[in-house]
Amino acid sequence: SSFKRLLIVSYRLPFTVKQTEQGAELIQNSGGLVSAVLSMAERMGQSQEGMASKIHWLGHGDASLQQIDPATLENDTFVAHPVFMDEVVHKGFYEGFSNDLIWPLFHYFPSYASFRESDFDHYQQANTRFLEELTAFVEPGDLVWIHDFQLMLLPDMLRQAMPNITIGYFFHIPFPSYEIIKLLPRTWRQALVRGILGADIVGFHTVDYVQYFMQSVSEVTNLPIIGQRIVLPDRSVVVRDFPISIDFNKFNLTGQETDVVETRQHYQNLLRNNKIIFSVDRLDYTKGITYRLQGYERFLLQNPDWHDKVTFVITVVPSRDKIGHYQEIKREIEETVGRINGLFGTIGWRPIVYSYTSLTFTELMALYTGCDIALITPIRDGMNLVCKEFVASRQDLHGVLILSELAGAAQELKEAVIINPTDTQEVADAIKQGLNMSPQEQERRLLSMRTHLQNHNVFRWSSEFLTAFDDVLSNQPDME
Ligand code: UDP
Repeated sequence: SSFKRLLIVSYRLPFTVKQTEQGAELIQNSGGLVSAVLSMAERMGQSQEGMASKIHWLGHGDASLQQIDPATLENDTFVAHPVFMDEVVHKGFYEGFSNDLIWPLFHYFPSYASFRESDFDHYQQANTRFLEELTAFVEPGDLVWIHDFQLMLLPDMLRQAMPNITIGYFFHIPFPSYEIIKLLPRTWRQALVRGILGADIVGFHTVDYVQYFMQSVSEVTNLPIIGQRIVLPDRSVVVRDFPISIDFNKFNLTGQETDVVETRQHYQNLLRNNKIIFSVDRLDYTKGITYRLQGYERFLLQNPDWHDKVTFVITVVPSRDKIGHYQEIKREIEETVGRINGLFGTIGWRPIVYSYTSLTFTELMALYTGCDIALITPIRDGMNLVCKEFVASRQDLHGVLILSELAGAAQELKEAVIINPTDTQEVADAIKQGLNMSPQEQERRLLSMRTHLQNHNVFRWSSEFLTAFDDVLSNQPDME
Protein backbone atom coordinates (compact mmCIF):
# COMPACT_ATOMS: atom_id res chain seq x y z
CA SER A 1 0.00 0.00 0.00
CA SER A 2 1.12 3.54 -0.44
CA PHE A 3 -0.18 6.98 0.30
CA LYS A 4 0.54 9.78 -2.10
CA ARG A 5 0.89 12.46 0.50
CA LEU A 6 0.62 12.97 4.22
CA LEU A 7 -1.68 15.77 5.33
CA ILE A 8 -1.70 16.76 8.98
CA VAL A 9 -4.51 18.88 10.37
CA SER A 10 -4.25 20.41 13.82
CA TYR A 11 -5.22 23.67 15.45
CA ARG A 12 -1.59 24.79 15.55
CA LEU A 13 0.81 24.92 12.62
CA PRO A 14 4.22 23.24 13.09
CA PHE A 15 6.05 26.54 13.04
CA THR A 16 5.68 30.18 13.90
CA VAL A 17 6.53 32.88 11.43
CA LYS A 18 8.91 35.73 12.08
CA GLN A 19 8.97 38.68 9.71
CA THR A 20 12.49 39.71 8.73
CA GLU A 21 13.84 42.13 6.12
CA GLN A 22 14.49 39.19 3.80
CA GLY A 23 10.88 38.02 4.16
CA ALA A 24 9.21 35.44 6.33
CA GLU A 25 11.34 33.20 8.50
CA LEU A 26 9.84 29.96 9.72
CA ILE A 27 10.69 28.86 13.23
CA GLN A 28 10.01 25.16 13.64
CA ASN A 29 8.16 24.08 16.80
CA SER A 30 9.81 21.27 18.72
CA GLY A 31 6.80 19.62 20.36
CA GLY A 32 6.09 15.91 20.41
CA LEU A 33 3.70 15.93 17.48
CA VAL A 34 6.20 17.68 15.23
CA SER A 35 8.99 15.18 15.98
CA ALA A 36 6.57 12.27 15.54
CA VAL A 37 5.44 13.54 12.17
CA LEU A 38 9.01 14.20 11.08
CA SER A 39 9.97 10.62 11.79
CA MET A 40 6.83 9.42 10.07
CA ALA A 41 7.74 11.35 6.95
CA GLU A 42 11.16 9.77 6.97
CA ARG A 43 9.68 6.33 7.26
CA MET A 44 7.13 6.91 4.53
CA GLY A 45 9.76 8.39 2.27
CA GLN A 46 12.03 5.42 2.77
CA SER A 47 9.56 2.62 2.55
CA GLN A 48 7.00 3.84 0.08
CA GLU A 49 7.64 4.78 -3.48
CA GLY A 50 5.94 7.79 -4.89
CA MET A 51 5.52 9.43 -1.51
CA ALA A 52 5.99 13.13 -1.98
CA SER A 53 8.65 14.25 0.47
CA LYS A 54 6.98 17.30 1.92
CA ILE A 55 4.26 17.08 4.53
CA HIS A 56 1.28 19.33 4.17
CA TRP A 57 0.06 20.78 7.42
CA LEU A 58 -3.18 22.69 7.91
CA GLY A 59 -3.56 24.84 10.97
CA HIS A 60 -5.16 28.03 12.14
CA GLY A 61 -3.61 31.10 10.53
CA ASP A 62 -3.33 34.01 12.92
CA ALA A 63 -3.25 37.64 11.85
CA SER A 64 0.55 37.68 11.46
CA LEU A 65 0.26 35.13 8.65
CA GLN A 66 -2.21 37.17 6.68
CA GLN A 67 0.39 39.58 5.29
CA ILE A 68 2.67 36.79 4.14
CA ASP A 69 2.86 35.35 0.64
CA PRO A 70 1.42 31.82 1.06
CA ALA A 71 4.04 30.46 -1.35
CA THR A 72 6.76 31.22 1.18
CA LEU A 73 5.10 29.22 3.95
CA GLU A 74 7.24 26.15 3.59
CA ASN A 75 10.57 24.79 4.72
CA ASP A 76 12.45 21.61 3.78
CA THR A 77 9.90 19.41 5.49
CA PHE A 78 6.58 21.16 5.77
CA VAL A 79 4.21 23.07 3.57
CA ALA A 80 1.93 25.12 5.79
CA HIS A 81 -1.66 25.82 4.79
CA PRO A 82 -2.99 28.48 7.14
CA VAL A 83 -6.73 28.38 7.72
CA PHE A 84 -8.01 31.92 8.18
CA MET A 85 -11.31 32.69 9.78
CA ASP A 86 -13.36 35.57 11.06
CA GLU A 87 -12.14 36.76 14.46
CA VAL A 88 -15.51 36.36 16.14
CA VAL A 89 -15.78 32.82 14.80
CA HIS A 90 -12.28 32.06 16.02
CA LYS A 91 -12.98 33.38 19.49
CA GLY A 92 -16.16 31.32 19.91
CA PHE A 93 -14.51 28.23 18.43
CA TYR A 94 -11.17 28.35 20.24
CA GLU A 95 -11.50 30.37 23.43
CA GLY A 96 -15.16 29.48 23.82
CA PHE A 97 -16.13 25.98 22.79
CA SER A 98 -12.64 24.42 22.88
CA ASN A 99 -11.01 25.99 25.93
CA ASP A 100 -14.01 27.07 27.96
CA LEU A 101 -16.20 24.00 27.47
CA ILE A 102 -14.45 20.90 26.10
CA TRP A 103 -11.18 21.38 28.02
CA PRO A 104 -12.72 21.68 31.52
CA LEU A 105 -15.49 19.16 30.83
CA PHE A 106 -13.21 16.43 29.45
CA HIS A 107 -10.79 16.95 32.37
CA TYR A 108 -13.67 16.43 34.83
CA PHE A 109 -14.09 20.08 35.81
CA PRO A 110 -17.77 20.43 34.80
CA SER A 111 -18.29 23.40 37.08
CA TYR A 112 -15.72 25.36 35.00
CA ALA A 113 -17.54 24.57 31.76
CA SER A 114 -19.54 27.24 29.90
CA PHE A 115 -22.30 26.07 27.60
CA ARG A 116 -23.01 28.72 24.97
CA GLU A 117 -25.00 28.04 21.80
CA SER A 118 -23.07 30.66 19.88
CA ASP A 119 -19.81 28.89 20.74
CA PHE A 120 -21.10 25.66 19.25
CA ASP A 121 -22.17 27.54 16.10
CA HIS A 122 -18.69 29.01 15.81
CA TYR A 123 -17.11 25.60 16.44
CA GLN A 124 -19.11 24.21 13.52
CA GLN A 125 -18.18 27.18 11.34
CA ALA A 126 -14.50 26.88 12.19
CA ASN A 127 -14.47 23.14 11.44
CA THR A 128 -16.17 24.00 8.15
CA ARG A 129 -13.39 26.51 7.37
CA PHE A 130 -10.83 23.72 7.88
CA LEU A 131 -12.91 21.49 5.58
CA GLU A 132 -13.00 24.12 2.82
CA GLU A 133 -9.24 24.53 2.97
CA LEU A 134 -8.74 20.75 2.96
CA THR A 135 -11.03 19.90 0.08
CA ALA A 136 -9.29 22.50 -2.05
CA PHE A 137 -6.29 20.22 -2.40
CA VAL A 138 -6.92 16.76 -0.95
CA GLU A 139 -6.72 14.07 -3.59
CA PRO A 140 -7.60 10.39 -3.62
CA GLY A 141 -4.67 8.45 -2.21
CA ASP A 142 -3.80 11.09 0.38
CA LEU A 143 -3.63 10.20 4.04
CA VAL A 144 -5.30 12.83 6.22
CA TRP A 145 -4.44 12.77 9.91
CA ILE A 146 -6.60 15.09 12.04
CA HIS A 147 -5.65 16.03 15.59
CA ASP A 148 -7.37 16.84 18.83
CA PHE A 149 -10.45 18.24 20.44
CA GLN A 150 -10.65 21.44 18.43
CA LEU A 151 -11.53 19.42 15.31
CA MET A 152 -13.97 16.72 16.41
CA LEU A 153 -16.45 17.52 13.64
CA LEU A 154 -13.93 17.55 10.82
CA PRO A 155 -13.47 13.79 10.21
CA ASP A 156 -17.14 13.31 9.33
CA MET A 157 -17.31 16.57 7.36
CA LEU A 158 -14.43 15.33 5.24
CA ARG A 159 -15.96 11.85 4.92
CA GLN A 160 -19.20 13.37 3.56
CA ALA A 161 -17.30 15.52 1.11
CA MET A 162 -14.83 12.86 -0.06
CA PRO A 163 -16.04 9.37 0.91
CA ASN A 164 -12.92 7.49 -0.24
CA ILE A 165 -10.25 9.44 1.60
CA THR A 166 -8.31 7.63 4.35
CA ILE A 167 -8.74 9.58 7.58
CA GLY A 168 -7.06 9.20 10.94
CA TYR A 169 -8.02 11.03 14.08
CA PHE A 170 -6.04 11.32 17.30
CA PHE A 171 -7.40 12.70 20.54
CA HIS A 172 -4.73 14.27 22.78
CA ILE A 173 -6.77 14.85 25.96
CA PRO A 174 -8.74 12.41 28.14
CA PHE A 175 -12.00 11.09 26.73
CA PRO A 176 -14.31 11.05 29.76
CA SER A 177 -17.00 8.72 31.02
CA TYR A 178 -20.46 9.07 29.48
CA GLU A 179 -21.67 10.68 32.72
CA ILE A 180 -19.66 13.73 31.58
CA ILE A 181 -20.61 13.54 27.88
CA LYS A 182 -24.25 13.45 29.03
CA LEU A 183 -23.88 17.01 30.29
CA LEU A 184 -23.62 18.19 26.68
CA PRO A 185 -26.86 19.08 24.91
CA ARG A 186 -28.14 16.04 22.99
CA THR A 187 -27.50 17.51 19.55
CA TRP A 188 -23.95 18.54 20.47
CA ARG A 189 -22.90 15.13 21.78
CA GLN A 190 -24.49 13.48 18.74
CA ALA A 191 -22.54 15.77 16.44
CA LEU A 192 -19.23 15.32 18.27
CA VAL A 193 -19.37 11.51 18.44
CA ARG A 194 -20.65 11.25 14.87
CA GLY A 195 -17.98 13.71 13.80
CA ILE A 196 -15.15 11.58 15.14
CA LEU A 197 -16.64 8.46 13.53
CA GLY A 198 -15.88 9.93 10.13
CA ALA A 199 -12.32 8.65 10.58
CA ASP A 200 -11.08 5.17 9.67
CA ILE A 201 -8.85 5.02 12.72
CA VAL A 202 -9.42 6.80 16.01
CA GLY A 203 -6.62 6.89 18.57
CA PHE A 204 -6.54 7.70 22.28
CA HIS A 205 -3.71 7.61 24.83
CA THR A 206 -5.07 4.82 27.05
CA VAL A 207 -7.44 1.85 26.94
CA ASP A 208 -9.64 3.63 29.49
CA TYR A 209 -10.25 6.52 27.10
CA VAL A 210 -11.00 3.99 24.33
CA GLN A 211 -13.58 2.29 26.53
CA TYR A 212 -15.21 5.57 27.49
CA PHE A 213 -15.42 6.57 23.86
CA MET A 214 -17.03 3.22 23.00
CA GLN A 215 -19.49 3.79 25.83
CA SER A 216 -20.46 7.14 24.31
CA VAL A 217 -20.78 5.60 20.85
CA SER A 218 -23.20 3.01 22.13
CA GLU A 219 -25.23 5.61 24.07
CA VAL A 220 -25.38 8.13 21.25
CA THR A 221 -25.75 5.79 18.24
CA ASN A 222 -27.02 2.24 17.90
CA LEU A 223 -24.06 1.07 15.86
CA PRO A 224 -22.76 -2.42 16.59
CA ILE A 225 -19.35 -2.61 18.25
CA ILE A 226 -17.23 -5.71 17.61
CA GLY A 227 -13.98 -5.65 19.58
CA GLN A 228 -12.08 -2.58 18.44
CA ARG A 229 -14.40 -1.97 15.50
CA ILE A 230 -17.49 0.16 15.22
CA VAL A 231 -19.53 -1.15 12.31
CA LEU A 232 -21.15 1.42 10.04
CA PRO A 233 -23.30 0.50 7.04
CA ASP A 234 -20.55 1.08 4.47
CA ARG A 235 -17.30 0.77 6.45
CA SER A 236 -15.95 0.34 9.94
CA VAL A 237 -13.96 2.47 12.35
CA VAL A 238 -11.05 1.06 14.35
CA VAL A 239 -10.65 2.59 17.82
CA ARG A 240 -7.42 1.85 19.66
CA ASP A 241 -5.01 3.14 22.26
CA PHE A 242 -1.80 4.71 20.93
CA PRO A 243 0.03 6.21 23.93
CA ILE A 244 2.00 9.21 22.68
CA SER A 245 5.59 9.47 23.79
CA ILE A 246 8.85 11.40 23.46
CA ASP A 247 12.10 11.35 21.52
CA PHE A 248 13.93 9.21 24.08
CA ASN A 249 17.42 9.69 22.63
CA LYS A 250 17.14 13.45 22.58
CA PHE A 251 16.49 13.57 26.34
CA ASN A 252 18.86 10.71 27.08
CA LEU A 253 21.82 12.34 25.36
CA THR A 254 21.40 16.06 26.05
CA GLY A 255 22.12 15.72 29.79
CA GLN A 256 25.86 15.35 29.12
CA GLU A 257 26.22 18.45 26.95
CA THR A 258 28.46 21.16 28.35
CA ASP A 259 25.88 23.92 28.69
CA VAL A 260 23.48 21.57 30.50
CA VAL A 261 26.23 20.34 32.84
CA GLU A 262 27.28 23.91 33.64
CA THR A 263 23.74 25.13 34.24
CA ARG A 264 23.05 22.14 36.47
CA GLN A 265 26.16 22.78 38.57
CA HIS A 266 25.27 26.45 38.79
CA TYR A 267 21.79 25.63 40.14
CA GLN A 268 23.12 23.07 42.61
CA ASN A 269 25.63 25.60 43.93
CA LEU A 270 22.96 28.28 44.27
CA LEU A 271 20.86 25.84 46.29
CA ARG A 272 23.86 24.87 48.46
CA ASN A 273 23.60 21.25 47.31
CA ASN A 274 20.23 20.80 48.97
CA LYS A 275 18.10 17.91 47.77
CA ILE A 276 16.02 19.27 44.89
CA ILE A 277 12.39 18.51 44.22
CA PHE A 278 11.33 19.75 40.80
CA SER A 279 8.09 20.24 38.91
CA VAL A 280 7.12 22.08 35.74
CA ASP A 281 3.68 22.50 34.18
CA ARG A 282 1.70 24.94 32.13
CA LEU A 283 -0.55 27.07 34.30
CA ASP A 284 -3.69 24.96 34.42
CA TYR A 285 -6.25 23.94 37.02
CA THR A 286 -5.88 20.34 35.77
CA LYS A 287 -2.26 20.15 36.93
CA GLY A 288 -2.97 19.96 40.67
CA ILE A 289 -0.36 22.56 41.58
CA THR A 290 -2.03 23.75 44.79
CA TYR A 291 -2.53 20.20 46.11
CA ARG A 292 1.14 19.56 45.31
CA LEU A 293 2.20 22.56 47.38
CA GLN A 294 -0.05 21.40 50.22
CA GLY A 295 1.54 17.94 50.08
CA TYR A 296 4.98 19.55 50.36
CA GLU A 297 3.79 21.74 53.23
CA ARG A 298 2.56 18.68 55.08
CA PHE A 299 5.92 16.99 54.48
CA LEU A 300 7.77 19.98 55.96
CA LEU A 301 5.39 20.09 58.91
CA GLN A 302 5.94 16.42 59.73
CA ASN A 303 9.68 16.30 58.99
CA PRO A 304 11.51 19.17 60.69
CA ASP A 305 14.79 17.26 60.26
CA TRP A 306 14.53 17.94 56.51
CA HIS A 307 14.20 21.71 56.95
CA ASP A 308 17.08 23.58 55.36
CA LYS A 309 18.14 20.43 53.46
CA VAL A 310 15.57 20.38 50.65
CA THR A 311 14.33 22.90 48.07
CA PHE A 312 11.24 22.61 45.92
CA VAL A 313 11.92 24.26 42.54
CA ILE A 314 8.51 24.78 41.00
CA THR A 315 8.15 26.34 37.57
CA VAL A 316 4.82 27.29 36.11
CA VAL A 317 4.79 28.05 32.39
CA PRO A 318 2.48 30.95 31.45
CA SER A 319 -0.68 29.79 29.69
CA ARG A 320 -4.19 31.14 28.98
CA ASP A 321 -3.73 33.66 31.79
CA LYS A 322 -6.29 36.12 30.46
CA ILE A 323 -9.06 33.67 31.36
CA GLY A 324 -10.73 34.00 34.77
CA HIS A 325 -10.18 30.46 36.07
CA TYR A 326 -6.49 30.67 35.12
CA GLN A 327 -6.03 33.98 36.93
CA GLU A 328 -7.72 32.49 39.96
CA ILE A 329 -5.47 29.43 40.06
CA LYS A 330 -2.39 31.61 39.56
CA ARG A 331 -3.34 33.75 42.54
CA GLU A 332 -4.02 30.65 44.62
CA ILE A 333 -0.62 29.15 43.73
CA GLU A 334 1.24 32.35 44.51
CA GLU A 335 -0.56 32.81 47.84
CA THR A 336 0.23 29.24 48.82
CA VAL A 337 3.91 29.56 47.88
CA GLY A 338 4.13 32.81 49.86
CA ARG A 339 2.41 31.29 52.86
CA ILE A 340 4.63 28.19 52.96
CA ASN A 341 7.83 30.18 52.46
CA GLY A 342 6.69 32.56 55.19
CA LEU A 343 5.87 29.72 57.56
CA PHE A 344 9.06 27.66 57.20
CA GLY A 345 11.63 29.90 55.50
CA THR A 346 14.63 31.45 57.21
CA ILE A 347 17.16 34.09 56.17
CA GLY A 348 19.28 31.36 54.61
CA TRP A 349 16.63 28.95 53.28
CA ARG A 350 13.69 29.32 50.94
CA PRO A 351 11.68 26.05 51.00
CA ILE A 352 10.11 26.83 47.60
CA VAL A 353 11.74 28.54 44.63
CA TYR A 354 8.82 29.51 42.42
CA SER A 355 8.90 31.07 38.98
CA TYR A 356 6.19 31.90 36.49
CA THR A 357 8.11 31.63 33.26
CA SER A 358 8.98 29.29 30.45
CA LEU A 359 12.32 27.50 30.53
CA THR A 360 14.88 27.14 27.76
CA PHE A 361 15.64 23.58 26.77
CA THR A 362 19.01 23.82 28.54
CA GLU A 363 17.40 25.02 31.78
CA LEU A 364 14.75 22.30 31.57
CA MET A 365 17.41 19.62 31.02
CA ALA A 366 19.54 20.99 33.86
CA LEU A 367 16.58 20.66 36.22
CA TYR A 368 15.48 17.23 34.95
CA THR A 369 19.01 15.90 35.42
CA GLY A 370 19.85 17.89 38.55
CA CYS A 371 16.84 17.15 40.72
CA ASP A 372 16.41 14.30 43.18
CA ILE A 373 12.65 14.04 42.87
CA ALA A 374 10.32 14.93 40.00
CA LEU A 375 6.94 15.64 41.58
CA ILE A 376 4.31 15.29 38.85
CA THR A 377 0.82 15.41 40.32
CA PRO A 378 -1.90 16.41 37.85
CA ILE A 379 -5.52 15.99 38.92
CA ARG A 380 -6.20 14.95 35.33
CA ASP A 381 -3.83 14.74 32.36
CA GLY A 382 -4.40 13.02 29.01
CA MET A 383 -0.84 11.69 29.00
CA ASN A 384 1.78 14.02 30.60
CA LEU A 385 5.08 14.17 28.75
CA VAL A 386 7.07 15.93 31.48
CA CYS A 387 7.34 12.72 33.52
CA LYS A 388 8.52 10.75 30.47
CA GLU A 389 11.09 13.43 29.65
CA PHE A 390 12.42 13.31 33.22
CA VAL A 391 12.85 9.53 33.11
CA ALA A 392 14.52 9.62 29.69
CA SER A 393 16.96 12.30 30.81
CA ARG A 394 18.21 10.23 33.81
CA GLN A 395 21.01 8.32 32.15
CA ASP A 396 22.71 8.45 35.56
CA LEU A 397 19.94 6.24 37.01
CA HIS A 398 19.52 8.62 39.90
CA GLY A 399 16.28 10.33 40.87
CA VAL A 400 12.74 9.44 41.89
CA LEU A 401 9.55 10.00 39.93
CA ILE A 402 6.45 10.66 42.02
CA LEU A 403 3.50 10.45 39.64
CA SER A 404 -0.25 10.96 39.90
CA GLU A 405 -2.42 7.96 39.11
CA LEU A 406 -4.66 10.41 37.20
CA ALA A 407 -2.10 11.03 34.45
CA GLY A 408 -2.37 8.82 31.37
CA ALA A 409 1.36 8.13 31.75
CA ALA A 410 0.71 6.25 35.02
CA GLN A 411 -0.68 3.38 32.90
CA GLU A 412 2.84 2.90 31.52
CA LEU A 413 5.26 4.10 34.21
CA LYS A 414 4.33 1.53 36.84
CA GLU A 415 7.68 1.82 38.62
CA ALA A 416 7.06 5.42 39.60
CA VAL A 417 5.94 6.16 43.15
CA ILE A 418 2.25 6.40 42.28
CA ILE A 419 0.11 8.71 44.38
CA ASN A 420 -3.32 10.32 44.39
CA PRO A 421 -2.73 14.09 44.20
CA THR A 422 -5.65 15.08 46.41
CA ASP A 423 -4.33 12.86 49.22
CA THR A 424 -1.81 15.33 50.63
CA GLN A 425 -0.70 12.84 53.29
CA GLU A 426 0.15 10.32 50.56
CA VAL A 427 2.09 13.03 48.70
CA ALA A 428 3.97 13.98 51.90
CA ASP A 429 4.81 10.31 52.54
CA ALA A 430 5.95 9.85 48.93
CA ILE A 431 8.31 12.84 49.23
CA LYS A 432 9.81 11.34 52.36
CA GLN A 433 10.06 7.92 50.72
CA GLY A 434 11.72 9.48 47.67
CA LEU A 435 14.30 11.43 49.71
CA ASN A 436 15.22 8.29 51.64
CA MET A 437 15.17 5.87 48.71
CA SER A 438 18.34 3.80 48.31
CA PRO A 439 20.43 4.27 45.16
CA GLN A 440 19.78 0.61 44.23
CA GLU A 441 16.02 1.12 44.40
CA GLN A 442 16.21 4.33 42.35
CA GLU A 443 18.26 2.48 39.74
CA ARG A 444 15.91 -0.47 39.60
CA ARG A 445 12.85 1.71 39.06
CA LEU A 446 14.50 3.99 36.52
CA LEU A 447 15.95 1.10 34.53
CA SER A 448 12.57 -0.49 34.16
CA MET A 449 10.85 2.75 33.13
CA ARG A 450 13.69 3.73 30.79
CA THR A 451 13.56 0.39 29.02
CA HIS A 452 9.87 0.91 28.46
CA LEU A 453 10.34 4.44 27.08
CA GLN A 454 13.28 3.46 24.93
CA ASN A 455 10.98 1.01 23.16
CA HIS A 456 7.79 3.02 23.36
CA ASN A 457 9.18 6.28 22.02
CA VAL A 458 7.40 8.78 19.81
CA PHE A 459 8.71 7.12 16.65
CA ARG A 460 7.04 3.89 17.62
CA TRP A 461 3.86 5.86 18.28
CA SER A 462 3.69 7.32 14.79
CA SER A 463 4.85 4.13 13.17
CA GLU A 464 2.07 2.15 14.87
CA PHE A 465 -0.43 4.66 13.64
CA LEU A 466 0.93 4.30 10.10
CA THR A 467 0.78 0.52 10.29
CA ALA A 468 -2.84 0.77 11.39
CA PHE A 469 -3.56 2.89 8.31
CA ASP A 470 -1.95 0.28 6.09
CA ASP A 471 -4.26 -2.33 7.63
CA VAL A 472 -7.27 -0.16 6.82
CA LEU A 473 -6.18 0.15 3.20
CA SER A 474 -5.62 -3.57 2.79
CA ASN A 475 -9.15 -4.15 4.14
CA GLN A 476 -10.60 -1.86 1.48
CA PRO A 477 -9.40 -3.39 -1.80
CA ASP A 478 -11.95 -1.45 -3.86
CA MET A 479 -10.47 1.90 -2.88
CA GLU A 480 -8.34 2.26 -6.00
N1 UDP B 1 7.90 22.59 28.13
C1 UDP B 1 7.88 23.76 27.41
N2 UDP B 1 8.32 24.90 27.98
C2 UDP B 1 8.80 24.94 29.25
C3 UDP B 1 8.79 23.76 29.99
C4 UDP B 1 8.33 22.60 29.40
O1 UDP B 1 7.47 23.76 26.25
O2 UDP B 1 9.19 26.00 29.72
C5 UDP B 1 7.40 21.36 27.45
C6 UDP B 1 7.82 20.06 28.09
O3 UDP B 1 9.14 19.74 27.71
C7 UDP B 1 6.76 19.11 27.55
C8 UDP B 1 5.56 20.00 27.33
O4 UDP B 1 6.01 21.34 27.49
O5 UDP B 1 7.17 18.54 26.33
C9 UDP B 1 4.40 19.73 28.29
O6 UDP B 1 3.71 18.57 27.88
P1 UDP B 1 2.74 17.77 28.85
O7 UDP B 1 2.15 16.65 28.08
O8 UDP B 1 3.47 17.35 30.10
O9 UDP B 1 1.64 18.82 29.31
P2 UDP B 1 0.68 19.79 28.46
O10 UDP B 1 1.26 21.16 28.62
O11 UDP B 1 0.67 19.31 27.04
O12 UDP B 1 -0.66 19.70 29.14
